[in-house]
Amino acid sequence: MMKVETLVIHAGSHVDESTSAVVAPIVLSTTFERDHDGNYSKGYSYSRAGNPNRQALETVLARLEGGVQAAAFASGNAAGMTVFQSLKPGTHIIAPDDMYHGLRNQLKTLFAGILEFDFIDLNNDELLLATIKPNTGLIWIETPSNPLLKLTDIAKVAALARKHDIKVVCDNTFASPLGQQPLSLGADVVMHSTTKYLGGHSDLTGGALITAQDDEWWKKILNIQQMGGAIPAPTDCYWLARSIKTLPYRMRGHVHNAQLLAEYLEQHTQVEQVLYPGLASHPQHELAKQQMLSFGGMLSFMVAGGKDAAERVINKLQLFARATSLGGVESLIERRAAIEGPDTKTPQNLLRVSVGLEHIDDLIADMQNALNKA
Ligand SMILES: *Cc1c(COP(=O)(O)O)cnc(C)c1O
Repeated sequence: MMKVETLVIHAGSHVDESTSAVVAPIVLSTTFERDHDGNYSKGYSYSRAGNPNRQALETVLARLEGGVQAAAFASGNAAGMTVFQSLKPGTHIIAPDDMYHGLRNQLKTLFAGILEFDFIDLNNDELLLATIKPNTGLIWIETPSNPLLKLTDIAKVAALARKHDIKVVCDNTFASPLGQQPLSLGADVVMHSTTKYLGGHSDLTGGALITAQDDEWWKKILNIQQMGGAIPAPTDCYWLARSIKTLPYRMRGHVHNAQLLAEYLEQHTQVEQVLYPGLASHPQHELAKQQMLSFGGMLSFMVAGGKDAAERVINKLQLFARATSLGGVESLIERRAAIEGPDTKTPQNLLRVSVGLEHIDDLIADMQNALNKA
């Protein structure tokens, strides 16, 4: 089988037939001409239904996750919403109690009265089993979770779900396809916010779903993509496919830097705790080694001295931008409780870091300076 570095460069790419351009052009046309017999032999008719740049992107995304097909969306939230819209009204969803807040809010506001849902700790086997109802149709997994970097055992949950004829979707945004392959562990569909590592440069918004099987459920998802029209523009598809060509090398850098920064922070007296799956101190480090191919570029840490000390650290840092989001080349830091609102369970002194691709010596020096002055 082709190695991933090769795959991301060649899957979905081909020399353009009309110009011999090695890099395929961006096709902006919203409409495509019929053949004389009325058919669309090239496969495209109207850009909401399909576009060559989207096709190229979906091809590489499917290959990256080991799936059979992918569907690209205008955002991660649009991808998640498509899954919820694809379920029969009255379906019960089991989702993690620390689910990405944007999708959790979607369920609680837009789908209230349409779908049923329970937010639970998926690591609690007994609770999970007790929460399954006759109308449970979906278990949503997000691992590692945000911002506590809690893991869920994908293979275990997927095996239980299969026994009860329940579908499993895994939000793989934090790990990236290089960090974890949920379909190979038994998930039915993988979801990504491609705004994050896949885009990788903090300059585009996108989402994706990748399926293990081209079944009836997937056909419905494709229908929602094409009829609903929450699709990415050809230019966004182009930039995203371009970024994916360097994903394996970028992930290597993110993972390398995150591991070293986590180890540095762990020994600092101003730091109460570091949450990173690659640390031996992570409560689920064994599971991380078992199910992850690499531990990702996201970490969280708690600053000694509470909320104010955490704010001081953020304000002293010079290389870490005080911003939400993740997965870009530049390092970002945020006090997560501030964005999650008043009912958050996230510790007030928790800082979440998206470790970028700057040199690790510079990142550590900046962190050392900020912690020592905080
Ligand atoms: C960002 C994010 C999303 C939502 O994606 P958008 O592209 O912002 O709509 C979903 N899940 C996780 C884990 C995320 O980090």
